[in-house]
Amino acid sequence: MPDVFSFSPIGHLATPFPDKFGIPRQPSLAPHAMGNLRLLPPFDRPETVRGLEAFSHVWLTFVFHQTAGEWNPTVRPPRLGGNKRVGVFASRAPFRPNPLGLSLVELAGIETVNGVVLHFRGVDLVNGTPVLDIKPYIPFVESLPQAQGGFVDGPPAQLSVAWSAPAQTTCDLARLKYPALHLLIEEVLAQDPRPAYADDPQRLYGVRLYEFDVKWRCNGTTAIVEALE
Ligand code: SAH
Repeated sequence: MPDVFSFSPIGHLATPFPDKFGIPRQPSLAPHAMGNLRLLPPFDRPETVRGLEAFSHVWLTFVFHQTAGEWNPTVRPPRLGGNKRVGVFASRAPFRPNPLGLSLVELAGIETVNGVVLHFRGVDLVNGTPVLDIKPYIPFVESLPQAQGGFVDGPPAQLSVAWSAPAQTTCDLARLKYPALHLLIEEVLAQDPRPAYADDPQRLYGVRLYEFDVKWRCNGTTAIVEALE
């Protein structure tokens, strides 16, 4: 067998994130980021997920299909302010020799009436990301509270989120279609998805969620939602 492997997706994950910018840097940071995965044939049979409903969380293995360019031996993790380098294998950066990703997500439901559709909570992937595998999370082996978290020990600092009146109104109207949109926006902005730390309170940033362009500013430690377009 040659030492080259080829895999094809079991499905593509539908998520609220049309592009990479603004996506939380790890799963569960935005619990209201829902993802749906419709399994492709020949995996779309109820047998392939039999027993999975008894697990609360699963590992998703996927392809970073939107990384452009070459990998580097070292990367600058955003968590270190973007100015310190660590080895690519000491990071979770998408630019890797083999662009495989791993996300631990909550299993919110399984439908097996018409094919197989899995629902997840807390996803951190671009809409359409090719998923290669699903594995159940086994807490007694994989939950290690004493483990060392290197440069990512502990959750990142969060912004508080305030709303302008027009943005609040648009969001209220959108609630019919997306009941958790308000919470999702707050969770995403709380992660401070600014590209580089440009501390200009006037500067308007945009994050796309579903079909909305969320316009926001950052004043000190507060993200202000200005508009939903
Ligand atoms: N939990 C995963 C992802 C960590 S990297 C892991 O540890 O492997 C997180 C970043 O990957 C996000 O900020 C997002 O912008 C980026 N990302 C998500 N889906 C992607 C995709 N399909 N292609 C390229 N980058 C992606």
